[in-house]
Amino acid sequence: MYRDLRLRLFPNHPNALSWSRDGQLCVIASETAQLLVPNNLKPHHASLRTHLLHSIQTSPEVAPADAEVYSIGDEQGPGYARAAAWSPLGVSEFRRCILGILTTNHQVKVFVPGWDPWSDWVIRYDLTKYLIEYSGWDNDELNKEDETTARMRVRTRSFSWSSAVTFPASRRAESLLAVANDNLQIVLFRITHDHCSIAEFFKGVDLRIVRKVGLRETWVSCLAWSPWKRVRGGDEGDNNKSKAFLAYGFRGKVYICPITVSLESGDYSRSPRDHDPSRLSAVAGNRLVVGNSMSDVHLVSAITWAEEEISGYLILAYVIPRSVMVVAINSDGGVMSTREFVNGFVDHIAGFCFTPSTSPSRVMLHLASSNGRTQIIDYTPTSGHMSEKSTSHITEGAGDEQDVPMSDAPPGSREEEEELRAIASRWTNVLEERKQDYMAEHDLSTCTSRVYGIAASPMGGIIAVACSFHPNDSLQYITASKEMTKIVFGTHHGWEGAWQRRGLLAEPPSDEPRVPTPAEISSEAFLFEIECFGGRSAGIVDRIRKSLDKVHFQDSNGWDLENISIDGAGVHASLASNLLAKRELNALRYKCCLQTLSDPANPRLSLLINAPPKEYPEIIAHTICNILSVPRNSATEKSNLSIRIIYSLACIGILGLYNFRQVVELARKAFLWLSTRAKVDVRTELDISDRRISDLDVMERGEDDGSGLQEIRDRDKGFASRLEKCALCDQGMTWSDLRVAECSLGHRVSRCTLTFLPMKDYKLTKECMVCKRTVLSEAILAHEVENNGMNKNGGGGGGGLGDEGMMDDGGGNTTSTSKAGAASASPSSPSRRRGAAAAASQGGVVVDRGGESTLAASILTGLDVCVHCGGRYWAKSEGGSLV
Ligand SMILES: [Zn+2]
Ligand SMILES: [Zn+2]
Repeated sequence: MYRDLRLRLFPNHPNALSWSRDGQLCVIASETAQLLVPNNLKPHHASLRTHLLHSIQTSPEVAPADAEVYSIGDEQGPGYARAAAWSPLGVSEFRRCILGILTTNHQVKVFVPGWDPWSDWVIRYDLTKYLIEYSGWDNDELNKEDETTARMRVRTRSFSWSSAVTFPASRRAESLLAVANDNLQIVLFRITHDHCSIAEFFKGVDLRIVRKVGLRETWVSCLAWSPWKRVRGGDEGDNNKSKAFLAYGFRGKVYICPITVSLESGDYSRSPRDHDPSRLSAVAGNRLVVGNSMSDVHLVSAITWAEEEISGYLILAYVIPRSVMVVAINSDGGVMSTREFVNGFVDHIAGFCFTPSTSPSRVMLHLASSNGRTQIIDYTPTSGHMSEKSTSHITEGAGDEQDVPMSDAPPGSREEEEELRAIASRWTNVLEERKQDYMAEHDLSTCTSRVYGIAASPMGGIIAVACSFHPNDSLQYITASKEMTKIVFGTHHGWEGAWQRRGLLAEPPSDEPRVPTPAEISSEAFLFEIECFGGRSAGIVDRIRKSLDKVHFQDSNGWDLENISIDGAGVHASLASNLLAKRELNALRYKCCLQTLSDPANPRLSLLINAPPKEYPEIIAHTICNILSVPRNSATEKSNLSIRIIYSLACIGILGLYNFRQVVELARKAFLWLSTRAKVDVRTELDISDRRISDLDVMERGEDDGSGLQEIRDRDKGFASRLEKCALCDQGMTWSDLRVAECSLGHRVSRCTLTFLPMKDYKLTKECMVCKRTVLSEAILAHEVENNGMNKNGGGGGGGLGDEGMMDDGGGNTTSTSKAGAASASPSSPSRRRGAAAAASQGGVVVDRGGESTLAASILTGLDVCVHCGGRYWAKSEGGSLV
């Protein structure tokens, strides 16, 4: 299992731990949120501190609230982190997650990643500001805007981030953040990294607000979203409707409220980053009560939903004093069954989460109290014909006696030994072991455990626990200086089911795994989870690889390269669905991730190898065929970057993938287009593609005796490009290696692993954090716009600094596609870069006057995760992050 993490901080609220879908583990304590990123688990922060200092200096003095609505939170200044919530995957640029933090002074801040994975996160939105400035509040009950109401409305008491809601017409997922305020309302925010607005608000319960000290009951608590379900039937527009339930607790009751979101019809395909606020609407339906505590004064202290439906039901669990209740709910919100699992816990619940179980008809619920007591429920929804029964397993500091064999004898066989290790690595046992270690270390006969939170990993096979141990007598002051919070990792007995449910291991009776897309399961989270298994990961890696090896392309003798179709109206969406959602390619991508584990048996030594893993020609062939099949519009014709991409992919096609007729023929068509429409001299390239096609004819007739073909091919390799020239000496680049571009005088630069263009400016690249491949970033689109603009205005003078890609169209005119050199885009002019980036992000893509996006823009924005491994990119300069 992964080594423990020791942090010198003490969380001051339960539920201090949360794990994002892209594998980042967040622990909140006082004014920081520590974020532990995969790869090396190096902690970094989302620090409220600078924001705190800033707000102390700038915010005007606020008069204390009236006695009946007085809140100590308001008075204590900027406040500390009280709760954290991760957005679903895909909300941030490059499809990462963003983080919401609720503070003790009732405010919500939304953080986004910094420029690189190791820099601190920064605040993007302060939701309080949106709540103050929102003009849509209805004030039916109030004749005029009441200052107290306004004040209570902006105090946030509880919040929850929905899972991603997807619509067939839109490639980007949407997410809603529900915020419960001090005015008994729930406000739904629609948030992505580049959009924030209030989508809907409604009353949590119908109640007159009592304003009296000690009697204020003005907020609902424990918000939790069910998974989304597409609304079917009815008219055509319903295809773009989804429904989820928002659950919350109030006065000992559990309510659920259906929320229906819809995308208004329109041109969704226009741009991949366009979040037009008018397009999404959210409507709250009628609330239903689905559960009760013992009485009005016995609070519901935690609520959570299972991530997937089990046997057709949504599964909701809530915690009341001494028990956990699990409710199966049908799609109309009707309660089908309620089961009580008594645990006798009266202390606070520190953490509560669902994970997949061993079979699709079951789900596991993990719970830890703040005193370190735990309960694991393996739940099956009750129905007549099911024989399996749910089990509940409570530990109370006595260890996992059921599972740990008492015998001291050496284990008999390898399997037994493996089994013992598996049991020892269950999270409840790991927690107990750490407690025993602590007592042994300090020579104590007894000690107190504190648990601050538990979190399930994105796959669901690992549970992380934030805990600390303390002596419960006078030794306290001796050990205090050594105290720290530990984050420990452990599995549970349903871990294998988790891999199956996520589609990475074949699930009987099926022989093949379903294979997720990188949009569903991030490669980072996948690797992190394997690394968490530590010494035991070799076996898992082996099984996953064997499982993925069973996935083959549909046609028996090729790679499914025929019948590639691209919708000219939504090129970026077509490219993404053809390339990133193709199951066979995704199986290769997850295998590529496994290659980055240098030694699965001992991943601690070196998590990532430095050399990039081997290329899968299938992925390159699909990339080339898809991009060369894109209908070429007039914007592409005018875009030098697009022309260079078409050229370089066609060259890689004829020199590297000549055994595939589809690739060679598409390349030949591309060269013909380049020579006629873009006026590029590609006679040599056309000759080579003609030779390749006659080669293929020979092979297809079965006349290849192995004598001459290879020799001719080798002679064709390595010709100097007329289009792609060296920035230093103006010689043509040769085509001998798809990773490195080398000119005839020997200057070398790396090629972009998506477009195969030489990359000369570090600032215009982005890097995949999993396989470390580097790709041109969207920032280059802004450069192209800039340079084209300069050429028009300055008669080409502005473009004279660089020299790559000077094109001779035969008529003596030169068109420069060069990046402006270092002199014109120096890092010392951030405002200029910002401006350039803003130009590129106008609607997310570079468009010409006719509103068409160029091929280059569709590729660089549409393929927003690594095509080779599915990993997330990080821009190498801040300019890229601004886009
Ligand atoms: Zn050179
Ligand atoms: Zn990658």
